[in-house]
Parts: sequence; structure tokens; C-alpha cells
Amino acid sequence: GGASNADHAVQGTSNDAAVSRESAARLGYIADPYIRHFVKPAQRRAPLINRGTFCRFHGVQNTLCQFIQALGATTQASGQIVVLGAGFDTSFFILEKEGLSAGKYFEIDFAEITAKKAATIYRHPDLKSLLPSDTQVAMGGSELHSSRYSLLSGDLRQFQSHVVPKLIERGFDPNEPTLFLSECVLIYLDPEHSDHIIDWITLSVPNAAILTYEQIRPDDRFGQMMIDNLRARQLELRGLHAYPTLESTSQRFLSRGWHSSTAVDLAAYHDRCIDEGERKRLAKLEFLDEWEEFTLLAQHYAFTFAYSRDTDLFQMLCPL
Ligand code: SAM
Repeated sequence: GGASNADHAVQGTSNDAAVSRESAARLGYIADPYIRHFVKPAQRRAPLINRGTFCRFHGVQNTLCQFIQALGATTQASGQIVVLGAGFDTSFFILEKEGLSAGKYFEIDFAEITAKKAATIYRHPDLKSLLPSDTQVAMGGSELHSSRYSLLSGDLRQFQSHVVPKLIERGFDPNEPTLFLSECVLIYLDPEHSDHIIDWITLSVPNAAILTYEQIRPDDRFGQMMIDNLRARQLELRGLHAYPTLESTSQRFLSRGWHSSTAVDLAAYHDRCIDEGERKRLAKLEFLDEWEEFTLLAQHYAFTFAYSRDTDLFQMLCPL
């Protein structure tokens, strides 16, 4: 127990993320029939936010799907996915529904969040029915354990002492190819804590890939505004000054000896990775006339995709 005010504020960001995702889902930007179960009350976000949420969802889904499909194409490995600070992310359920699954899927967040998530899953048959049949509730309702999906409670600031033993106990195999996912999570940690997570991965998981989606560029006027807004809500982007640019976020992995690392901001991702047909579809959903503002906002978020070893499996992935 004993969460600080700052911890409560950070936990609250999982609601923001879910509200944005629900807004984009309801308006038809993204196909997520599950997120509405986690959101109350719903809020309609501005068109430029919905467009950003679409790109974020597109990049994450694309990476998860490419990884699972690449695993299917190689015979030896079953693979694992580990979602750091998963919040109310519904990707596991979306993938299950599509029949896309890696060997094991782990989600980690504070117990306060995982307890809400587990309870919501159990209240809604469309979610509950997608849980593996051997699922058991544990830790007073804050954890779900099964052979393929584990929802684990833990503090990422105590990664090696607290989170890793739980992962191992639930079947995490460091020798399997593993995709880590961090969406707006590492940025809230002190860089010493997030560096520690990445150092652990570097040393302990020989075949690791990671997709991060985090804020960047604190230094211009827009970046300063973003930081001030969050600070007013007791939220500090602690990692932002340690890894403030595309260059530094990709260097973060290369300097630890990872084989490949690519960083792309969301504005570039929108221009390069969303095809023409999809853009036409989005244009019909909502009129977006604030292109300058969208670009400015989108330049302050970045995907980074990195992998540690040059294997056939990871060579097949090209999500950005
Ligand atoms: N990744 C989810 C998404 O994109 O919808 C949630 C993002 S939310 C902005 C940040 C999440 O990180 C919250 O759910 C929060 O509880 C979690 N988080 C932040 N610091 C954490 C820590 N020290 N230990 C565990 N979870 C943490």
C-alpha cells in the first residue's frame, strides 16, 4: 500500500489513455470493441487527438501483428509479449479475437490498475470469454494467471527485485524471443529506473525487441506547454530530459549494443505509414482542419523500435 500522490496521478493516466482510445473507437477510427468497458464517463476528443490516437493504435497493432506472424513463420519459437504499464490496453483481447497469439502474453501495472482491469474483464462476457480456459484470479483479485495470459501487479521501479520474479514464476522464459511494449510508461519513470529495466533486458533476454511510444522534444514552446499541463496535474515526465529527441531515444538501445534501433515521430509515421485508402477513410469520419496543430502535436510523440540481435525473426519485422 502507501501509494503517494504522484503515484495516484500516474495511475490516473491509464484513464486518459482509455478515454482517448474509446473516443477513437466510437467514432470509427480504430476497431476496438472492448475499450468502452473500461471507460466511464466517455468523452469525445478533438479531431486532432483522435487522429493521433489512430496513429498510435496503428503502430502498436502493426508491431504486435508482425511479431506474431513472424513467430508463426519460424518453427522453433513460441515467443512472448510483455506489456510494461499496460493500463487498460485491450490489445490482448483484440488479438485473441483475431486468433493471433504469441506463446505467452504478460501485462504489468500497479495493483490498483490491474485489480480494476481484472474486475472489468470478469464483468463483461465478451472479455471474459476470451480468457484462456485455465485462467485463475489471484492476489486478492489484482492478478490473473493462465498458461497464455498473465495480468501481473507490480511496481516497475522495482523491476528486478519485484517484477522479474513474478514474470519467471508465471512462465516467462528469457530464452524465448520476446517483444516488450511500452506506451507512455517509461517517460513517467526516473531515467535510472527505466534504464535499469532496459539494462536487465539487455543482459537477460538474448532475443529481445521493444516498441516504445513516448513523448519527446520538451524544449520548444509546444513541448514546454505539454510539460506545464502535466505538471499542473502533478505529473512529471521524468524521462524526457534524459531522452529528449529521436536521436537519443534510438541511441538509448544502440549504446547498449542492440543491433538495430529506429525512431520515428508520429507526424512522420502519419505521412509514411498510413496508406492513401486509410487516410481517405479517416477524412470522412471527421473533418480535420488544424493540420499545423496536428503536426506540432505529433512531432512531440515518437515510436522507437529496437531489437537486440540480428536474427531471421527480427529481420522480418519492419513496423516503422
Ligand atoms: N500503456 C497503456 C496505454 O497506452 O493505454 C497505459 C498508459 S498510461 C499513460 C501509463 C501507465 O503506466 C499507467 O497505467 C500507470 O499505472 C503505469 N505505470 C506508471 N508507472 C508505473 C510503475 N512504476 N509501475 C507500474 N506501472 C506504472
